[in-house]
Amino acid sequence: MSNGVAEKTLILVKPDAIQRGLFGDITSRFEKKGLKLVGCKMMALDEAILREHYAHIADKPFFPGLAKFMQSTPVIAMCWEGLEVVDAVRNITGITKAREAESGSIRGDFAMSVSCNVIHASDSVENAEVEVKRFFNPDELHAYDKSEYMHVYAADELE
Ligand code: UDP
Ligand code: MG
Repeated sequence: MSNGVAEKTLILVKPDAIQRGLFGDITSRFEKKGLKLVGCKMMALDEAILREHYAHIADKPFFPGLAKFMQSTPVIAMCWEGLEVVDAVRNITGITKAREAESGSIRGDFAMSVSCNVIHASDSVENAEVEVKRFFNPDELHAYDKSEYMHVYAADELE
């Protein structure tokens, strides 16, 4: 059972957010938006998973510093579900360079850096599918009916 809405996205709560005690504030944004949490765990990232996850920037000069930062504490990986959730979450997240991110977005409200920008969020449906599989085993993802969905979506959106 999953209320008929299946799109999923990956969030990583980065070490700067862990150190600054922002996990609750960040999670609260997604909860209040009406999204459904279907997976959540704390994990230390090794070099291999970082190279895979950041393959598109692994040859950039800033990658070694980014890898060190991402390994400085464990991260919290979350999988959120909702209608067109990948785009919805990217909107809530804000642009990469946090000091220019829109006010009201998570990066806009909580961060000042281009590297330490508090969360990762999948950038496309295609990448989200790969990223959710990268960070979660199938038995770590949970399907359940969220009772508030009848107040979050119109009936025809849940068909
Ligand atoms: N990053 C960085 N320096 C840069 C660009 C990116 O340290 O000049 C880091 C930053 O933490 C960013 C991550 O690399 O969130 C992934 O980069 P991407 O372009 O995919 O940005 P995002 O999708 O996170 O907005
Ligand atoms: Mg990205």
